[in-house]
Amino acid sequence: MSNDLLWKVPEGEHVKLKKYDPDYVHPSFKRDGAEETLGNLGKEMGELQELLSAAQHHSLLMVLQGMDTSGKDGTIRHVFSQVNPQGCHVVSFKVPTPEEAAHDFLWRIHNAVPPKGVMGIFNRSQYEDVLVVRVHNLVPEDVWKRRYKEINHFEKLLADNGTIILKFFLHISQDEQTARLQARINDKDKAWKISSSDFAERKYWDDYQKAYEDALSQCSTDEAPWYIVPANHKWYRNLVIAQTLVDTMRKYKDEWKADLEERGRKELAALQQLRASNEVKGL
Ligand code: ADP
Repeated sequence: MSNDLLWKVPEGEHVKLKKYDPDYVHPSFKRDGAEETLGNLGKEMGELQELLSAAQHHSLLMVLQGMDTSGKDGTIRHVFSQVNPQGCHVVSFKVPTPEEAAHDFLWRIHNAVPPKGVMGIFNRSQYEDVLVVRVHNLVPEDVWKRRYKEINHFEKLLADNGTIILKFFLHISQDEQTARLQARINDKDKAWKISSSDFAERKYWDDYQKAYEDALSQCSTDEAPWYIVPANHKWYRNLVIAQTLVDTMRKYKDEWKADLEERGRKELAALQQLRASNEVKGL
């Protein structure tokens, strides 16, 4: 179902963002009732997270990228409202600290990936090192150019070790960004969200789109796919991300349950042995 709702980038696809409509809404999802649908998906996500957490077989990593104001924070707030905070780990990547900058670009990322049983959410990610870094020439071209391959190797390593990876690009139009920035200026309650750098970055819109096209084209793999999310409508963005996460986790549900049942059987058998040897008092 996911693929009709948003766009999973096939490995090797040459992405042109202009071909993807940020206003797109699949007819099966309606604005009316969106909250209820999101609530139901959230409930199921919470149940699946419990299984992921108990089974300890996999971790889940969700990468969120998008232009300024595309809704990374809002997505996290709405999509994960019903998951157990104990099993969830959100990391926001900012300008590297001197210590981070003194290491290879994946050092801080690797340090932040979720361990088994945990849902990790990256608000920005390793992709900043082929986005902002490329747009602002923060390293020489030959350095950022080889990073696509390095990222693919890194993500393969994570996937080989049981990390379920989903990467979402929140696709908004430039007009929508203008409207969202304008809303922050007009609304005193939203003014705290104003960041002068967001305004300064706007003149690099085309450069960022190009950098995103290359990242999406070169780093969408079977084990770590990119999804382009039509994100002009916030309610729709939340629904399709929640739906894609739930669809992906559902595929592992039987495996996680079978594993837990097997563990339960073993524990009961061990308990019976203890009882037989009279070492358990009162049970
Ligand atoms: P956000 O915009 O995510 O809410 P901030 O306003 O603190 O949070 O922005 C974080 C900034 O850190 C962004 O401008 C982003 O481009 C920058 N950043 C993240 N990773 C890197 C990196 N590897 N190199 C340079 N800048 C980075």
